[in-house]
Amino acid sequence: MIRSPFSNEQLLNAVAGEMEGAVQLLKELVSRNSVVGEERGAQEFVEEILAELGFSVERVLIAESIAQDSLAGVPSLSYEGRFNVLGTTPRDGGPTLLLNGHIDVVPVNRVTWSTDPFSPVVRDGWLYGRGAGDMKGGFAMAFLALRALRSLDPGVIDKNLSFLSVIEEECTGNGTLASIRQGIVADVVVLPEPTDLRILLGGIPITWVKVSVGFGGGHAESSDRLASPADVAGRIIADLRRFESRLNASPNPPFDTITHPYNINVGVVHLGEWASSVPGELKLELRVGHPSEISDDDIITEVSSIVSKILGGAGGPGLKVQGHGFRAEGYSLPSSDRLVKAIGAAHHSLHGNVPVSEVLGSTTDARYYINQLGIPALCFGPIVRNMHGSNESVDLRSIEMGAATLAKFIAAYQFGGGLRGIEDA
Ligand SMILES: [Zn+2]
Repeated sequence: MIRSPFSNEQLLNAVAGEMEGAVQLLKELVSRNSVVGEERGAQEFVEEILAELGFSVERVLIAESIAQDSLAGVPSLSYEGRFNVLGTTPRDGGPTLLLNGHIDVVPVNRVTWSTDPFSPVVRDGWLYGRGAGDMKGGFAMAFLALRALRSLDPGVIDKNLSFLSVIEEECTGNGTLASIRQGIVADVVVLPEPTDLRILLGGIPITWVKVSVGFGGGHAESSDRLASPADVAGRIIADLRRFESRLNASPNPPFDTITHPYNINVGVVHLGEWASSVPGELKLELRVGHPSEISDDDIITEVSSIVSKILGGAGGPGLKVQGHGFRAEGYSLPSSDRLVKAIGAAHHSLHGNVPVSEVLGSTTDARYYINQLGIPALCFGPIVRNMHGSNESVDLRSIEMGAATLAKFIAAYQFGGGLRGIEDA
């Protein structure tokens, strides 16, 4: 049982009543492209929404010195002019709840998109656009829940509640880390990441590695006598696949529930500039998922040794292997945590099923709350298709369902005095 001051019917009706506005809001958010470095327009829109909900809104700046934090990712851009957005309500000493979403989206390759990724369209109940799934659909879900609660009783969202919209979840985690270092915390954190209405409890360690090898290049006429950077790339990738198999030989719990948790993704391959020139340089950008007993530095060393072996042991004059972006720790929240039970009970009472709990071979900013602060944090959000890919989309019905669940949870949390007031399912 989950106690709530509102009946299920009241909650579902309130959410349904605000749904059209949530779709409009999501369209506006998606249309504001917020790839790393260009988050401002979308963050300004989040500020407007939070202000309209009655939250006090402030910009949370990120100091360049965050890069020196032992838990930071390696930034690729300055934080000048870039910021998290925080909406708060007054605290009265009762249990606090933080909703955390990331505003950044990953870049687009338009070739296989059937629509403009930044001109969102709705088709058959799905909204298409970059970030519709990961994770602006989650922002829409959370704002829908808050608006529905406000329409029932503004008193339910006017205290002990905050919403944080962070940058750089997709590359470093430094947005959330900076906010934590500035004391922006709560007793419980919910991240409305796209989880297909499941409860996401954990993720693996992730390290990004950048490789560049200089070759000198030359005329195509002599390419049979020169080292071919493209062929070298192929051999490096083949050896990386062997390394990947070793990583996946015996995954650590709880990630042993996943068939192949530790993926090495070759995200960027860059070779030459001209058909009749042998390329002068090979660049690779890798995302390596790995077990927690292997450190980020170990991963960089291993990639470095794979590449230098292929180059003949010497390493080559222009060889550079370095970490960039993610240096993320693995994390997991026990499925027995009261927060998991509470979200599960809220969902069950409204929709008839307890959401499946799972871990994935990826990461989220929940890791900082769980690992560094010991705060229960989980991801719960809409059903999506093809996030990070083309024709990314979110199921609008799942936004409505997830919002009702979140609204019921928030109401029970606020009125019941936190997690302790919410009985198990
Ligand atoms: Zn995400």
